Amino acid sequence: MTVRVRFAPSPTGYLHVGGGRTGLYNYLFARHNNGTFVLRSDDTDEARSTEEFRLDIIESLRWLGLDWDEGIEVGGPMQTYRQSERLARYQEVAAELVAAGKAYHSFASPEQLDQFRKEAQAAGRSPAYDGSLEPSPADATARLAAEEPATVRFAVPRPGETSFEDVVRGTVAFDHAQVEDFVILRSNGTPTYHLASSVDDVDFEISHVIRGEDLLSSTPKHILLTEAMGAERATYAHLSLLMGPDGKKLSKRHGHTAIKAYRDDGYLATAMVNYLALLGWSPGEDETVVSLGDMVARFDLSTVSKNPAIFDTDKLQWMNGVYIREMSPAEFVDAVRPLVEADLDRRLDDGEMEKLAEIAPLVQERAKLLTEVPPQVRFLFGDIEYDEASWNKVMTKEGAAEAVAGAADRLATVDGWSIDVVEASLRAMLAELELSARKGLQPLRVAISGSSVSPPLFESIAALGRPRTVERLEAARERMG
Ligand code: GLU
Repeated sequence: MTVRVRFAPSPTGYLHVGGGRTGLYNYLFARHNNGTFVLRSDDTDEARSTEEFRLDIIESLRWLGLDWDEGIEVGGPMQTYRQSERLARYQEVAAELVAAGKAYHSFASPEQLDQFRKEAQAAGRSPAYDGSLEPSPADATARLAAEEPATVRFAVPRPGETSFEDVVRGTVAFDHAQVEDFVILRSNGTPTYHLASSVDDVDFEISHVIRGEDLLSSTPKHILLTEAMGAERATYAHLSLLMGPDGKKLSKRHGHTAIKAYRDDGYLATAMVNYLALLGWSPGEDETVVSLGDMVARFDLSTVSKNPAIFDTDKLQWMNGVYIREMSPAEFVDAVRPLVEADLDRRLDDGEMEKLAEIAPLVQERAKLLTEVPPQVRFLFGDIEYDEASWNKVMTKEGAAEAVAGAADRLATVDGWSIDVVEASLRAMLAELELSARKGLQPLRVAISGSSVSPPLFESIAALGRPRTVERLEAARERMG
């Protein structure tokens, strides 16, 4: 079996997490079967398609690590993988179907069609349009010659039925009484989605169409078109839609829906891909953390669930934390460096990189998102900025002023400088002042980092260095009056 699949997003929005999951399943299926993964751009909707969205789709897929073998950007045996550049081909197929009597020019106006549907419904018949409003062939020819605008509709054979074995959903059947004579070419000559998609799937020799369940009712139309073109139908697999934790269709109300937004929020591509894969498929009993390579080895489209999948950002965040901890310290530093530099709006020099490398493992242990890192390490690189809420809460407490003064005096003169030295010196200070660690150390944290949330204190002080630590303790002492 030669597997050729396509992912065919429309560049009318940022790549959605549901689209990312569809792209991933196409990728996994292609790679598992040594097949070909094609990326097509469904950009016939000129008014809504933009270059920005087209680039976002490409960038998001590349970020996720889903490389494609043929398609936009990479090329391939077809001249183009953009539907907007294949309009002549769709018009050609429409003309062939009309010539073969499998499609016809339609003059029915929207008002007439509306009327037709209402009457059919009132009479208890199917509202699917069956062509009965059209003029005789001779009339139609005359009206076309007079350049009257007409759409082209596919003539659905009735009575009849189209059924297929969906890899995910099992047998699906559509009675043609419920399938209207659908438009394939608009009166301005542009193809509908049904025509463009079916022609491309045939011309690109697509073996398996893996896409969202929202397109299930389009499939009988695509099969009819495909077979009318004299081609063999593909195998279809319709993936259930993504839901929010409340069981409603995933939307902005639940959080971000664009892959790009998750990247910007500090998620790792590895975690994102792993989480998306679990939305309908399971790599094995109770197993959740699986690399892309392992997923390729194990992917089986026929075990994908037809139940709706819940997209839960809490679970995604948990998984992101798992992947953050799986990074080597050097990988983690590489990943956060650009974020830290963007936060400071300048490059880090070699000395600062050493400090970052010193403190990074402590942040890595706890972080769930890469974006948590810059605010936590900022104190090492810039001037101190006090978080007023932290200051007011911590620095007014009993013992705070004594702790800051005691630490300033001790750390200015202690012998040597290391995490152990700092810790021993400050513990001696706590004992002398009879302060608990909570009461005595929290003010030091605010004094050196500006905030009551920072990486572990002794390590932070050691990394900050003696001169800046003492300077900050003195500044805090003065500010406390
Ligand atoms: N372009 C369609 C969409 O974005 C998908 C087409 C298909 O997979 O058949 O929903």
